[in-house]
Amino acid sequence: MTHAQSLSAYTTLRLGGPARAVVECADTLSLVETVTRLDHAGEPVLLIGGGSNLVIGDDGFGGTAVIVRSTGIEFGSDDDGPFVTAAAGTDWDELVAATVDAGFGGLECLSGIPGAAGTTPVQNVGAYGVEVGDLLRGVELLDRTTGGREWVAPSDLGLGYRTSKLKGADTHVVLTVSFRLNADAVSEPIAYRELAQRLGVDEGATASARLVREVVLGLRVGKGMVLDAEDHDTWSAGSFFTNPVIGDDRIDRVIAAITDRVGDDVRIPRFPADGGTKLSAGWLIERAGFTRGYPDEQAPARLSTKHTLALTNRGDATTDDLVTLAADVRDGVRDAFGVELHPEPVFVSCSLPR
Ligand SMILES: Cc1cc2nc3c(=O)[nH]c(=O)nc-3n(C[C@H](O)[C@H](O)[C@H](O)COP(=O)(O)OP(=O)(O)OC[C@H]3O[C@@H](n4cnc5c(N)ncnc54)[C@H](O)[C@@H]3O)c2cc1C
Repeated sequence: MTHAQSLSAYTTLRLGGPARAVVECADTLSLVETVTRLDHAGEPVLLIGGGSNLVIGDDGFGGTAVIVRSTGIEFGSDDDGPFVTAAAGTDWDELVAATVDAGFGGLECLSGIPGAAGTTPVQNVGAYGVEVGDLLRGVELLDRTTGGREWVAPSDLGLGYRTSKLKGADTHVVLTVSFRLNADAVSEPIAYRELAQRLGVDEGATASARLVREVVLGLRVGKGMVLDAEDHDTWSAGSFFTNPVIGDDRIDRVIAAITDRVGDDVRIPRFPADGGTKLSAGWLIERAGFTRGYPDEQAPARLSTKHTLALTNRGDATTDDLVTLAADVRDGVRDAFGVELHPEPVFVSCSLPR
């Protein structure tokens, strides 16, 4: 255990003040024992996997940060076909790579996403038309209210668009995750137009999982969405805002406001979604006038120069700088189009200024 250590070392934004203590758990048993002991002692606990979806305040966390480092990957099969099971702290992309190397498909569209495997159900991680919930077989949880361990079916996790019952709730620890796989190295059906075009296949067709992984990684690197310590565009929490879903009662008004601003000859990206129509947060941010690299080259926190949806630390930013920028972007989109953007990462000891 170390004391009063800055949490910036544990987040991909490289932001966050000190925790009272930091404990790294190298296996599942120590994770269970540590969290149980801290809970009994009434000590606040902050679980951290890869720290890639966390915005931690400059004053830090008044409790113990538990770093999930349990690793291990096992392949198996049952009547429904092959699957892979991993300890929560296993690096997600190493898990995806291991499945592709072992000749299985399924997870390839989720290549290059930072963080730990066990955290992926927390916000139902998704990219390029696939969400982990599509492949999830089960999750082993520690119930912090009872101290019990149990395997839970995906249908009990409340998985939705970048959310689940686990997100922002301090009730459970993911210990182990298990994913169904496709045999014969076949990818999931390609549901994302840009990816299908790059692969030269029709939407809905499958391809070689290895090829899909390579193409996805290439697309992600181009957008600054694969971690690279040398590239400040990747000192981020990925997409900072979720794509807003506009209810049927408001969508005509919102489209009219967008058309007013951008003209009616511009195609507005819009997709049917649960509860209405999903718009693209990145597109709205750009059309509201926020350019890549906004506000300027001197600002310590800026929009990525590759993708307007990523808010980045250029090296000496504070969390205060970051949330001020986020509020600026949120307000600009609201003023332009009447659309409220909501942050995707989990905020700890900080919030967006109103
Ligand atoms: C460059 C970049 C690109 C990204 N691209 C994508 C993308 O394409 N799609 C996408 O969906 N996300 C993306 N993200 C966001 C992020 O990578 C994912 O949400 C990832 O699953 C977070 O994992 P983590 O281990 O880093 O979580 P952390 O940031 O460590 O934690 C996130 C939350 O989960 C909690 N938590 C951590 N471990 C556990 C556990 N074992 N049990 C219960 N709760 C836990 C934490 O307390 C916190 O509330 C991206 C982020 C970055 C920086």
